[in-house]
Amino acid sequence: GTPQQPKNCTSLLEELVAEARKAPPGGQVADYIPALAHVNADAVGIAVVELDGTVHTAGDANEAFSIQSISKIFGLAMAMNRMDDALWERVRMEPSGQAFNSIVQLEWEHGIPRNPFINAGALVVADVLTSRYSSSKTAFVQYVRQLANNESIHADHDVWESEKEHGNRNAALAYLMKSFGNIESGVPEVLDHYFFQCSIAMNCVDLARSLGFLANKGIQPGTEQRICDARSAHRINALLSTSGMYDQSGEFAFTVGLPAKSGVGGGIVAVVPDYGVICAWSPPLNRYGNPARAVEMITQFALRLGLSVYH
Ligand code: GLN
Repeated sequence: GTPQQPKNCTSLLEELVAEARKAPPGGQVADYIPALAHVNADAVGIAVVELDGTVHTAGDANEAFSIQSISKIFGLAMAMNRMDDALWERVRMEPSGQAFNSIVQLEWEHGIPRNPFINAGALVVADVLTSRYSSSKTAFVQYVRQLANNESIHADHDVWESEKEHGNRNAALAYLMKSFGNIESGVPEVLDHYFFQCSIAMNCVDLARSLGFLANKGIQPGTEQRICDARSAHRINALLSTSGMYDQSGEFAFTVGLPAKSGVGGGIVAVVPDYGVICAWSPPLNRYGNPARAVEMITQFALRLGLSVYH
């Protein structure tokens, strides 16, 4: 990484937000549930939290949004703590080359999802959590609060309820995997957990702070608590690099070169090892389901500072 003077970093973020506000939205906000369809499409925020705790923000960086698929990182880190390498017999570590909610590969590949960051893989992870924690939802939100150092973080009840109501495709994925013996708990319980974690609301600063351990070999900056071993942090970053941006992961690695994860709530987090974590937010989604202007802000931040794990 290339540490910047605090003032320069903040003014760069302000520039990126101003550019994003002028740019076309690049797509439409997620509209599969009313609670997401009603978000402000014009919101634009970005935050950088450095390993020494320095925070830089611009735009709507303190406004909470639905973290959606970004929650797959927290779920995976928790599951890797609870389960040994047998986890990798139930979910693979390969890019999918399909949409995030694709079902076709699952049948060909006998109910073993390609990676933990597509929906099918995240449902296997959710199954690990529901079967290994007495109260997986409480454990999940406590884990996130502790990482973000923010006790007020919670799941948005409206989003959670309407995810469940409109969750037929995720239900189909889970039942198909159950038919192959790759889901242990009851499917309704697994879906309930998965939709709960997707519906957690956080802002850019919370998200960037919470994932500092991935930029710091598994140790959470600030508290110095070990969240996972260095090998697990490496593995999560590798999976983020190859699969975190769904079917745009190749392009994102090619142009940017940072482990990153998007969500349909419009957020993206990107890890800069030994430097910190960036989180950008802008709700309209491109055709891959990634937030177009947030992708652009992270891209420009990385290019202008010369940040890449492939140097
Ligand atoms: N709740 C969404 C779903 O499961 C999350 C997907 C996403 O953010 N890409 O479809």
